[in-house]
Amino acid sequence: MAWDDALWRRIAERGVHDAIARWTDEQAIEATERFGAHNYHPLPVNIVRAKGARAWDAQGKEYLDCVGAYSAVAHGHLAEALVREAKAQLERSTLVSRAFYTPEMALFVQALAEYSGLDAVCPMNTGAEAVETCIKLARKWAYTVKGVPEDRAEIVVCENNFHGRTTTIVGFSTEERYRRFFGPFAPGFRIVPFGDAEALEAAVTPNTAAFLAEPIQAEAGVIVPPDGYLAQVRQVCSRHRVLLVWDEVQTGFCRTGRRFAWNHEDARPDLMAVGKALGGGLLPVSAAVGTREAMAVFQPGDHGSTFGGNPLACAVAVAAMAVMEAEGYAGRAERSGAFLRTAFLRAGGGSIQEIRGKGLLLGVEFVPELPAERLQEAFLRHGLLTKETRRRTFRFAPPIATEQAELEEIAERFESAVRSVAGTM
Ligand SMILES: *Cc1c(COP(=O)(O)O)cnc(C)c1O
Repeated sequence: MAWDDALWRRIAERGVHDAIARWTDEQAIEATERFGAHNYHPLPVNIVRAKGARAWDAQGKEYLDCVGAYSAVAHGHLAEALVREAKAQLERSTLVSRAFYTPEMALFVQALAEYSGLDAVCPMNTGAEAVETCIKLARKWAYTVKGVPEDRAEIVVCENNFHGRTTTIVGFSTEERYRRFFGPFAPGFRIVPFGDAEALEAAVTPNTAAFLAEPIQAEAGVIVPPDGYLAQVRQVCSRHRVLLVWDEVQTGFCRTGRRFAWNHEDARPDLMAVGKALGGGLLPVSAAVGTREAMAVFQPGDHGSTFGGNPLACAVAVAAMAVMEAEGYAGRAERSGAFLRTAFLRAGGGSIQEIRGKGLLLGVEFVPELPAERLQEAFLRHGLLTKETRRRTFRFAPPIATEQAELEEIAERFESAVRSVAGTM
C-alpha cells in the first residue's frame, strides 16, 4: 500500500485496524516478505484473530492452535482473567523503570520465588535474556564464591541444545544453521551428549561453573532424557560444586504435567531460566530464578533491563501463575497429553514412528514413507496449526486451557489429515 502523510494521519485518527481491515491474507504475507527480514519461514497462514484454542485467517478459516506460540500460550489466546488484569494495570501504570520500586514487581518476585520453590528472582523479558542472566550469575558465582581463576570459568551444555538466539547462546549451539557466519563466539562452553550423566561428570573440571540444560529438549524434536537423568545430574553437580541451571523456558509452568519439568525428579536447580507461558500469552515476561546463594552475587550495576520487571508484565505474570494454580494446570496438562497421545496413536496407526514428550508437550514423529511437506499441508488444510520441529517430527503443544471437546476435535482433524496423506501412498 502507498504510504504517505495522509496514511500516518489516518492511522493516528482511526487506528491500526482501520488500516488493515480489508487486507487479504495474500496482502499481509506479501508485505511481510517485502519489508520484513527473512529470519523465519512462516507457513502460508495469516492469523487475524485468536481466542482460546482457536485462531482464524482473513477468509474466516478456523484452526485449532497446536503450536501455542511454543508453549507461551498456555492459558489460551486472550484468556479472560489475564486480559482483565492487563486492562486494570493499563489504568494504573505500565512502565516506570528499575530506578524505582513498584508494588507489582514486589508481588511478582515473591510469587515467582514461591511458585518455583527457589529464593530470588531477576526479572527479564525474553527467554534468551533469562538464559544470559543465568550465565552471568553462574560465572560470577564461580569467580567470587567457588574461587575459579578469573576468565577461566566453564559451563557445560548439551548437544542439540536450544537456549535462544543471542551471539553467546548460538555460540554453543550444535546446530550449524544457528551458528554459521555469526562468530567469533564467546569461549567457555563445553558440549556433552544430552541424557548422559556420566559424560557430564567426565567433562567437569575444577573450573566448571555450571551445567546448563533443558530438562526436555523441545526444539531438538521433543527429546525426553532417560528416567533418572535429572536427579543424576543434580547429584553430579552437587558432588563437584557445580551450579545446576535448568532452562525451563519452554517446559515450565505445567507444560509437562508438573510445575516445572525438573519436578518430575529430585532435581532442584541452583538457577533456572523461565519465560514463555509466564507472560500468559499476552506479553514477553521472563526471569532468572535461583537460590539465595546463586542470586546473591549480583550487585547494583551488574545486570539490568529497561523493560524487565515492568508493572504491566508483573501484574499479568502473577495472574498467569494464579490461574495455573487455581485451575490445576499441571494435572490438566498431564491428562490432556495422555488423551492426545492415545488418540494420535489410534488414529495414526502405522503412520507414526514414535510419540515423544511429557504432559501436553508432544512430538509426533512420522514414518519416513510419509512426506513431511504433504503432512504439513494436510494439517493446515484440516484446520490444525502445527509445525515440524526436526525432520518428520511435528510438535503438538496446544494451550493447557484447551477443553476436552476441543482435544477431541484436534484428534479428529489429526486423523483426517494423516489419512489424507497415508491413504494416497
Ligand atoms: C524459546 C526458548 C528460549 C528462548 O526464548 P525467547 O523468548 O525466544 O528468547 C530459550 N530456551 C528454550 C528452552 C526455549 O524453548
